[in-house]
Amino acid sequence: MSLRIGITGGIGSGKTTVSGIFQVLGIPVFDADAEARKIMEKNPELRNAIIEKFGQSVYPDNIHLDRKSLAAIVFKDAFQLEVLNSLVHPHAIAEAENWAKKQNAPYVVKEAALFFEAGSVIGIDYMIGVYAPKHLRIHRVMQRDGSTREEVLARMQRQIQEEIKMRLCDFVIINDDQQLLIPQVLKLHEQFLKEAEE
Ligand code: ATP
Repeated sequence: MSLRIGITGGIGSGKTTVSGIFQVLGIPVFDADAEARKIMEKNPELRNAIIEKFGQSVYPDNIHLDRKSLAAIVFKDAFQLEVLNSLVHPHAIAEAENWAKKQNAPYVVKEAALFFEAGSVIGIDYMIGVYAPKHLRIHRVMQRDGSTREEVLARMQRQIQEEIKMRLCDFVIINDDQQLLIPQVLKLHEQFLKEAEE
């Protein structure tokens, strides 16, 4: 079985950017957030559970998720967001597990914003935290998504504190516009390859 590496970090920290470097190095990457969005449409059991909790309006045609409608419910109510996460996370974790079993590489990477929060560190050999200072994360996400500062801050408030998250990780990649990303990723890549060989 391949060694399993997790990548996490706050919104806009650079998880996808770091995962992209691993991908260029030939390492399979599972984007948990993107996959969760997919299974919310393709898994009928999950879809029905979401309809039961949040109403038919979130799947107007019974298949396609109206993300705006669901966001309007869960992003203004922390309880509803917990309900949604408790429905989606077990399916997303199972999907990642199936995916990882099918890979044939020395190690595989799973990227997720909510790793510790979702309890998905089980089965992961090493966790990498991607760290960027808050002001830089806000700036990057505003630029990337065309969001307002308030919108980005509201999304950040729903995640556990960056500093705590980094302390839970085995390795931290600093993505602060000062230190280069590629050498930091290469160092870990070599380390993981060596460990996988052993
Ligand atoms: P989210 O949690 O919102 O999915 P993320 O942690 O995956 O975000 P990215 O999408 O990788 O973060 O990065 C956020 C934005 O910042 C992107 O537009 C990305 O291109 C940019 N960015 C990330 N790292 C750097 C960097 N080192 N230099 C310049 N731009 C960067």
